[in-house]
Amino acid sequence: MQFAWHFFSAIGARRLRRFHVAPHRRKFECGIGVNAALLSPPFEGNVYGLMIMNLRSFVLKSIAVLSLLSFALTAVGADKKIVLIAGRASHGSGQHEFQAGCLLLKQCLDKLPGIKSTVHFNGWPQDENVFDGADAVFIYCDGGGGHPAIKPERLKVLADLMKKGVGLGCAHYAVEVPKDKGGPEWLAWIGGYFEMFWSVNPHWDADFKSLPTHPITRGVAPFKINDEWYYHMRFPEGMKGVTPILTAVPPDNTRGRQGANSSHGGNPHVFARKGMPEHVMWATERTDGGRGFGFTGGHFHRNWGDDNFRKLILNAILWTAKAEIPANGVPSTVTPEELKQNLDPKGDKK
Ligand SMILES: [Zn+2]
Repeated sequence: MQFAWHFFSAIGARRLRRFHVAPHRRKFECGIGVNAALLSPPFEGNVYGLMIMNLRSFVLKSIAVLSLLSFALTAVGADKKIVLIAGRASHGSGQHEFQAGCLLLKQCLDKLPGIKSTVHFNGWPQDENVFDGADAVFIYCDGGGGHPAIKPERLKVLADLMKKGVGLGCAHYAVEVPKDKGGPEWLAWIGGYFEMFWSVNPHWDADFKSLPTHPITRGVAPFKINDEWYYHMRFPEGMKGVTPILTAVPPDNTRGRQGANSSHGGNPHVFARKGMPEHVMWATERTDGGRGFGFTGGHFHRNWGDDNFRKLILNAILWTAKAEIPANGVPSTVTPEELKQNLDPKGDKK
């Protein structure tokens, strides 16, 4: 802003000099779309009228210049760096396409002014300098005991970022971490996680009939889509600090059999909640000032072609980076051809 003010002052001084020396020859160098004459009183043919008109015109145009400069400087000052971590290939073709999914998100994010994103493949980046200056980290990978982020030294890297207020978002299997190895961290950093013998991972048609008012839901309409929507995450007591973003009622047959106690397929806690709504996306504002979100969908690569599905994640990534989200959410398009690009070579493996 200091630069903007100096610029404004310089223009102002030059304009005033021009006014005193030769007002009839005065020209405006900056073609700002403000028609000061329309807003000025009629010119009455005396020098005072000319002075008033010119002064008013000068002020209006200077304000317009200042506004543009301010906008430009704000955009520059608001540059955000987003680090996307894509896990190793797994599952069959079209499933857990972390590389292709992250590249699609990058393609959408990089079209936004002031947003820069980088994608790092095959899990945890070998060069941890990629995190330098990051505003948000997004992890899309296989999780559980093999989660690339749960080695102590890597959790330490993330912890240091979190202390700086860096955002963290996790999608699909990346929301699952062992209860004693990443569990407390995920709870604190993204507001919840998939806990074995507590959460479940069925495939079902989630019908999101309404969405809460939140920056992440800007421009997103209610939608219905099939995915491996994990649910019954481990959340903080009383959902403290956590805002549900996507909520739906799963079919009862996704809760496992009565009496079952499976690591992923059903447990008494889930079974007891028949007919009740479950959260599959949530957001949190951490006590350290940072933001986090979890999203349990993302099993099928084709779902990135759904505008509402994709917009939610793009909005959420921007939100964790503390970037402004457009009133109608992040605009983006993904064609069927683009959905086929960058898929992991998996052959016919199912
Ligand atoms: Zn999956």
